Amino acid sequence: METSIEEVLLSHYKVAIVGAGPAGYFTAQALQNAQTSELTFSIDMFERLPTMWGLVRSGVAPDHPKIRSVSKVFEKIASEPSFRLFGNVEVGTDLDIEELCPRYDAVVMCTGSSIGKTLGIPGEELLGSLSAAEFVPWYNGHPDYVNVDVPLGGDTAVIIGAGNVAMDCARILGINPIELDSTDIAVHALAALHKSNIRKVYIAGRRGPEHAAFTAPELRELPKLEHTDVIIDSDAVHAAHVRAEAAGEIEKQTAANLEAWRLIAEHPRSGHERSMEFHFLSHPIEIKGDGKVEEIIFGINEIKDGKVIDTGKTYSIKTNLVISAIGYHAPHIKGISFRDGKVENENGRVLGTNIYTVGWAKRGPSGVIGTNKSDAADVIKLLIEDLNPEPKNGGDISVVIPQSIVVIDQASWSKINAAEVAAGEELGKPRVKEVVIAKLIALAE
Ligand code: NAP
Repeated sequence: METSIEEVLLSHYKVAIVGAGPAGYFTAQALQNAQTSELTFSIDMFERLPTMWGLVRSGVAPDHPKIRSVSKVFEKIASEPSFRLFGNVEVGTDLDIEELCPRYDAVVMCTGSSIGKTLGIPGEELLGSLSAAEFVPWYNGHPDYVNVDVPLGGDTAVIIGAGNVAMDCARILGINPIELDSTDIAVHALAALHKSNIRKVYIAGRRGPEHAAFTAPELRELPKLEHTDVIIDSDAVHAAHVRAEAAGEIEKQTAANLEAWRLIAEHPRSGHERSMEFHFLSHPIEIKGDGKVEEIIFGINEIKDGKVIDTGKTYSIKTNLVISAIGYHAPHIKGISFRDGKVENENGRVLGTNIYTVGWAKRGPSGVIGTNKSDAADVIKLLIEDLNPEPKNGGDISVVIPQSIVVIDQASWSKINAAEVAAGEELGKPRVKEVVIAKLIALAE
C-alpha cells in the first residue's frame, strides 16, 4: 500500500533526550534505527554542560583511550539531519519538565547517576575523604569539580570498593604520572599528580576476591603496569579459589577473575617504589583525624558457609586520602520522581506520563558503556508501542529557552571539540580539555 504525504507527516514524532552521555546517544541511535518510511523522528538532545559525551568524557579513565573512541559513534549519530543539540541548557533549572512534555511525543531521561554513595561511617566528612564521584570528574576535567581538594602530600591512599571505578581511581594514583603525560587527563590533575607523594595505594573490598566487581580485562592489565608493583596475597587468592569451588560451579566471569588474580599474585615484584595492594574481607569502620584524614580503621571479615561475617578484629592504615568508590545514585531533577537512587520507572517507562528513562538513571550504576545500547533499544521499543496514532503539535522548544542562555548547538560543540583536539595536537595528546564554562562557551563563538 502506498503511503500518502499526509500519512508520512502524521507519523513524524518529536522526542526530547535529556543528557548527552552514552545512554542519550544510544537512545538517539535506537530512534534513528527504528525509522521507516512511515515512522520518523526528530530528536532534540538537551545537555546541561557545554561539553558532550557524559561519562565518555568525564568518567572513562584517561589511560583507557580506546574506550573513549566510542565518541566517534556519538558524533555520527549527532550528524543526522533530524538531530538537534541544545547544550548548556539544564532541564529542571533552565527548562522545566512541564515545558518539555507537552512539546514532545516522548521525553527520555538519560541523566545518569552522578552522586557518590556514602559509607555512613564516622569521619567520612573529614578533609581528604572523597567520593570517586568527585575524584574521577576532578581528574577528567569536569567543570564542576576543578576545585576538589585532593590531598596528595601523604605517601598512602586508600580506595574503598572492589569495582572498576575503584580500580580506575587506584591506577590514576598508583601509576607513574609520566604514563599520563600523553593522555587527555585534566591539566590541573596531571600537575598535581606529578607533585604527588603517594607511593602506596590500598584497595579494600569488603568480601573476597571471588566476589569482586572488577572485570577480568581490568585485572589482566595490572601485571603490565610499568612502574607499579601490584600486590595481592597469594593465600587470599588460593582461599578464594577454594571457596568458589566449594560453592558449586564457578561462573565464567568469576573464573576469569580468579585466573587473573592468580597471575597477579604470581607476577614477580620489581621493587618499584610505587605499589597497589588489594585487601579483601575488610570493611571500613571509621576514618580518624583532627580536621583531616589521618587514619582509617577496618574491620576484618571472614566467610563462613558462604556468608560474610565480622570477626570483630580490626586493623588500621595511616593515610591522608580515602576515596570511596562504592556506587552512585541519581541527582534529583525537578518534575521527576526518583526512588532508590533512580528515576521511578517500570522497564524504562515513567508510568502515567510520556517520560521514559535509559541508562544509569533507569537501572542504577551498572554495566559498561555498551550496555546502554541494548538498554536504549529495549526502551525505544516500548516508547514506539506507546506512541499516540497522532503526533503532538506542541510547538518548538526554542521559543521557551531563556534568551540569556547561550545554547551550544552541534556546530558550536564541533568548534569546542576541534579547538581542544588542536590544543592537544601541539602537545602529543588526544586533546586538552577546557574546564571553565565561560571559556568553553568562548571557544564555541
Ligand atoms: P560496582 O561495580 O557496583 O562496584 C561497587 C563496589 O563497591 C563493590 O565492590 C561493592 O561491594 C562495594 N561497596 C558497596 N557498598 C559498600 C560499602 N558500604 N562498603 C564497602 N564496599 C562497598 O560499581 P562501580 O565500580 O562504581 O562501577 C559502576 C559500573 O561502571 C560497573 O558496571 C563497572 O563495571 C562500570 N565501569 C566500567 C569500567 C570499565 O569498563 N573499564 C570502568 C569504570 C566503571 P559488594 O560487591 O560487596 O557490594
